[in-house]
Amino acid sequence: MSKALCVHGHFYQPPRFDPWLEDVLPEGSAAPEHDWNARITRECYAPLGWARRLDGSGMICELVNCYAWMSFNFGPTLLRWMEIHAPGTYERIIEGDRQSLARLGHGNALAQVYHHAIMPLATELDKDLEVAWAVQDFRTRFGRDPEGMWLAETAVDLSTLEALARAGIRFTILAPRQARAVRGADGDFHPVSEDGIDTTRPYLVRLPQGKSISVFFYDGPVSRAVAFERLLGSGENFWNRLTGSLHGGLRNIATDGESYGHHFQFGEMALAYVVHQAREGRDGVGLTNYAAYLAAHPATDEALIHENSSWSCVHGVERWKTHCGCSDGGHPDWIQDWRRPLRRCLNYLKYYVDEHYSKRAKELFRDDKAVLPEYGLVLAGSESLVDFLDRHCLPGLDSAQRIDACRLLLMQRMALASFSSCAWFFDDIARIEPLNGLTFARRALDLLASTGGPDVEAGFVRVLSEAQSNMREDWDGAVLWKELVTPRRPSLQEFVVYPRRFPAAKDRQEMAWPGVRLVLEPGAKGETLRCFWTWTLKEEAVSVSGPEEFPPLSRHKAEAGFRLAREHERALLEQSCLLARQMAPLLSGFTEGQSEPPQLLAMQIPGLVWNWLFEGQELSRDLQGYLAAWFAANPGVRKPLERLIEERGTQLALSLPSQAHALVELITRTRHLGLSIYWWEAQNAVMAVPNRGVHVELCTLLGLSVPEA
Ligand SMILES: [Zn+2]
Repeated sequence: MSKALCVHGHFYQPPRFDPWLEDVLPEGSAAPEHDWNARITRECYAPLGWARRLDGSGMICELVNCYAWMSFNFGPTLLRWMEIHAPGTYERIIEGDRQSLARLGHGNALAQVYHHAIMPLATELDKDLEVAWAVQDFRTRFGRDPEGMWLAETAVDLSTLEALARAGIRFTILAPRQARAVRGADGDFHPVSEDGIDTTRPYLVRLPQGKSISVFFYDGPVSRAVAFERLLGSGENFWNRLTGSLHGGLRNIATDGESYGHHFQFGEMALAYVVHQAREGRDGVGLTNYAAYLAAHPATDEALIHENSSWSCVHGVERWKTHCGCSDGGHPDWIQDWRRPLRRCLNYLKYYVDEHYSKRAKELFRDDKAVLPEYGLVLAGSESLVDFLDRHCLPGLDSAQRIDACRLLLMQRMALASFSSCAWFFDDIARIEPLNGLTFARRALDLLASTGGPDVEAGFVRVLSEAQSNMREDWDGAVLWKELVTPRRPSLQEFVVYPRRFPAAKDRQEMAWPGVRLVLEPGAKGETLRCFWTWTLKEEAVSVSGPEEFPPLSRHKAEAGFRLAREHERALLEQSCLLARQMAPLLSGFTEGQSEPPQLLAMQIPGLVWNWLFEGQELSRDLQGYLAAWFAANPGVRKPLERLIEERGTQLALSLPSQAHALVELITRTRHLGLSIYWWEAQNAVMAVPNRGVHVELCTLLGLSVPEA
């Protein structure tokens, strides 16, 4: 009997986007990166696309695109961010699916419910929207229909499986403890435990309305070892654990994809090792994906599931509504009674959103029921909002009515986004995840009011006020709402900073975010800021003469500050280079016997180094020694400098062969100074050169194997 292996990664980040700009604003805890999406891309999503496989002597001999070899799902809101901010990694993911499709006849990618909502806690309407939008998003990105869909937290009930089956989804993945019973040879169902169920085969779950869906239960012990027991520390151990005691059928594991690289640094290298072993045919084991396996081995055994169960709460789906005892965040003594009012107030809002929507939508759309599921085409970018309105709106609407139509659809999207499971997952309501969830509710409430809906904010806040934070006694839900959530609603006055300080061009004071385009126009009586809102088609203008003004907690102050700091970093380096050039002749007498050169200012050190690395200026051996010690004691200067050098090094690597010698010299010199540069992108560039074997010295310095030229 053949032995097959399937390694699944669930890749996801909480929706971090600001509901007005539709992009992520700075998150201080992710520094030096701008936000956590960027940080985890650097630690995990990108490394998996170019995973280092080492040869026997520890040199990198291959960059493995793990997405071509593992089963995976990515959250649509994460991919939307990645497409803009990490396009190279994004392309690697799409390419991975394409390659697996060519190899196996079925692609590695699964879809994922759109906003990562806990499906058993969602209404029937919301279930269908989460699935429909996920399917449309998947089709647009991967160019094919999804065969499988990942459920947030693997939370499941029969009506969720019905929703998947209705959308043409053929299978999903569940934890072994979600299996309740399996039909035996005698035709009866027999209870199974999580240790008792055979996870090496798919099961058929028959659904009440006559359809059925296949379910893979993942291997619990091996998945746990990946997620929690440091199994990724060694590729050989990983391989042995994956294939040990497998006598036939499918060994499948599923974990958070972030285990590879973010939770465990270099975890992606263990996976690359496993990929190589399987490709070599070791132990008669081959790598496959769920869809390919299912096509070759349709489910014949039947299973019953535990409804309202999930993979990260042993109490079912209580974690997303009560103080069940499950939480992450590092405070085991904290109380999570805030979870219930948080869910209740969002349900309360969604009830009025749905009621208002169905009333108003009839006045605006040809088919108010069909329009909402199809809105996913606009979210996915496969149809423009204007074309969508032309297709769905009743004839003869004026522009104000068309704006209202857009607002109703956006209101539904924002209300749905507020249910992302992350808001309840951790141990306090004042954390970033619940506050983000509430910010989507803030936007939905505003859209409800602006389209003539009932004023339900007071009722919403009354329920929310029952939530108590563990962080501060005076923080209940109502206080958080008033002091931390509502102030995130931007004023147009704040926006002026963007076109003014970061213009698209010198003569065009414009700046565009995915959610809004900002244009600053001069005029005889002062400046005017025009805002074009992408998702409502509304235009607004405000006169903005005078300096920028920010409210105290403005998130736009942080964003503008981040951008300015990055720009000024370069300007400061230029000044430092200038200073270092002027001071160079005065430094020539320094010897290491002296404790410190009196004429050396800290300000000129980055310039001194930069000029030596790139501008041909001399740097004496004694000064090199002094600077190496100085950098060790001054990481605050060293790290930004290392980042700027890294960027220049990548450019050199992309200009091979002409810049090969310059890159060798650069790497050697940075080592003299004790700088630790992350040569990851340079390695990628050199590995992509067809005849890298001619650059022996460069390969050796970068830790790359040298193939025979
Ligand atoms: Zn629990």
